[in-house]
Amino acid sequence: MLEVRGLAAGYGQVEAIAGVDLDVAAGECLAVVGPNGAGKTTLLKALMGLVPARAARLALDGSEVGAMPTHMRSRAGMAWAPQGREIFTALSVRENLALAALGRPGGPARAIDAAAARFPVLAPLLDRPGGALSGGEQQILSLSRALCAGPRLLLLDEPTEGVQPAVVESLGGTLRDLAAGGLAVLLVEQNLDFVDAVAARVATLDRGRLDARGPVTTPGVVPPPRRR
Ligand code: ATP
Repeated sequence: MLEVRGLAAGYGQVEAIAGVDLDVAAGECLAVVGPNGAGKTTLLKALMGLVPARAARLALDGSEVGAMPTHMRSRAGMAWAPQGREIFTALSVRENLALAALGRPGGPARAIDAAAARFPVLAPLLDRPGGALSGGEQQILSLSRALCAGPRLLLLDEPTEGVQPAVVESLGGTLRDLAAGGLAVLLVEQNLDFVDAVAARVATLDRGRLDARGPVTTPGVVPPPRRR
């Protein structure tokens, strides 16, 4: 589904990632872990076309998307749920969802109904300003917004950051369900328990280089053992 070869991206003279190769299959969750400043967010932004980047190949289901602007990548099936959520704090939950669903089949009404059905916690909050939600609720709104576009590939940037354990668990269940439904997920995360719970494979990113790759439980790839 997603095929990346030789991806490099940065900011001016700073090369934040270089020579990144990765693949994510439909129905698979690949996690990318790494220390602060490793280039994880830059990787996702480069895939979405949000930072200057170049790649020998950046393809979705065999079609090259590397030359497309962000909105075309979105239309091609890519969605991004950014770190820090970046929801519209002055707009209601309903309006946040409606904006994300503009131009989609069924329009905003269908997207809002689908979001409330998938995440019942959002149903009573639909008319509340986004800025008046808790951190966990904002995270769920951010994920719901990304899903409004009906993506085939979901790029998720540290969805558990600042979120309480019960919500983390529910997010994990949702991601597993989405992947079981065929969605490809590229997850950037520092919470290794969450990675362990949702990802089939893990890659480590360090100083812009994507290193080890393998099953989540491969020794030396994700240090902490399963605690369940
Ligand atoms: P974290 O886990 O702390 O969020 P990260 O792995 O997501 O970090 P990035 O945010 O991708 O790392 O940053 C990678 C490198 O690029 C870092 O050295 C960072 O300082 C640099 N960088 C990030 N954004 C910019 C920017 N807008 N301008 C210049 N350098 C930047």
